[in-house]
Amino acid sequence: MTTETIQQVPFVDLAAQHAPLAAELEHVFRERLTKTDFILGKPVAEFEEAFAAYCEAPYAVGIDNGTAALEMLLRAYEIGPGDEVITVANTFIATVLAISSVGAKPVLVDIDPVSYNMDPSKLEAAITERTKGIVAVHLYGQPADMDPILEIGRKHNVLVMEDAAQAHGAYYKGKRAGSLGDGAAFSFYPAKNLGACGDGGAVVVNDAQIAERIRMLRNYGQREKYYHVTEGFNHRLDTLQAGILSVKLRHLDAWNAARAHHAHHYNRLFAGMTGVVAPTELDYAQAVWHLYVVRVDDRDGLRAYLQEQNIGTGIHYPVPCHLQEAYTSLGYGAGSFPVTEAYASKIVSLPMYAEMTDAMVEHVVEHVHRFVSQGQAVAR
Ligand SMILES: *Cc1c(COP(=O)(O)O)cnc(C)c1O
Repeated sequence: MTTETIQQVPFVDLAAQHAPLAAELEHVFRERLTKTDFILGKPVAEFEEAFAAYCEAPYAVGIDNGTAALEMLLRAYEIGPGDEVITVANTFIATVLAISSVGAKPVLVDIDPVSYNMDPSKLEAAITERTKGIVAVHLYGQPADMDPILEIGRKHNVLVMEDAAQAHGAYYKGKRAGSLGDGAAFSFYPAKNLGACGDGGAVVVNDAQIAERIRMLRNYGQREKYYHVTEGFNHRLDTLQAGILSVKLRHLDAWNAARAHHAHHYNRLFAGMTGVVAPTELDYAQAVWHLYVVRVDDRDGLRAYLQEQNIGTGIHYPVPCHLQEAYTSLGYGAGSFPVTEAYASKIVSLPMYAEMTDAMVEHVVEHVHRFVSQGQAVAR
């Protein structure tokens, strides 16, 4: 492989994403200074319409971040104290935070060892009389296996929602993530597949009344200015961010295709390499590869070695939700979710972003191979 000239591979490179869009993005910034439509300006409604269409769903409501988007969705369905909401132990903490922030009890289940997503065969045992909702997470950009999850939800009269914060544009059996259940939360945190220049989020729903409720909840609970019909919040998506997101949305499919190209390239290069377990794209899914996560035995050694080679990595996530100090009160403890726990010490996320080159992918794989084939000696 001819990767010797590469000096570094960052984990992500948002500056590379912004460079070709600079003129358009600067125009969005400048326009705000004269229009001064900072709060719920026209670009918010325009982005909502474009993003709903992108998700092949009727309604999108812009929210100021992904955590609040999930919280607003739960609140719109009046999920609160006394209710239980089931999600997975292997997710970003924000999924669980949204559930506990409305006063509901997060109930966790383990993941499927191949998809890293909710194991539907573990779901039914977690349902009780108090279960009001299920939040399936499309982790790393690959949709959870929604059909069995939806079936269990219907059978028990429980809402099925999506945390699609890592899955903008992903498909499950030909349907877009965000359109699959009773509502979905997206994040536009800068490093997500679609990211703002700051915080941002959205709720995508099929139901007009739920969309309307979320519009009120995000805006002080008012339907009309100064007439408050419900106890609301301030969780609006900024006009500035909406304008930026509309510019970026036009490139999202191309970026996702580039991510898929790199993921498949990684997968081919890792195929048959002992010591590295590459991700599997399930038959039902078209993943958008928010993260490219492999498993290795000496994960910390590999990260240290790659860092010496100026190759950026991450861990998503080092401590499962049920073992976080914040959630000791849930009473799970070590051993509760064996797959999640076994993976937490072995997973490492390799560089993944649209603008990286084939040679960069080859460079990363070459160094991962050097480390795993020579053992830990090279790391120290
Ligand atoms: C990023 C993320 C969130 C939270 O989104 P924010 O915009 O950072 O609040 C929620 N769930 C998952 C799975 C995420 O990756």
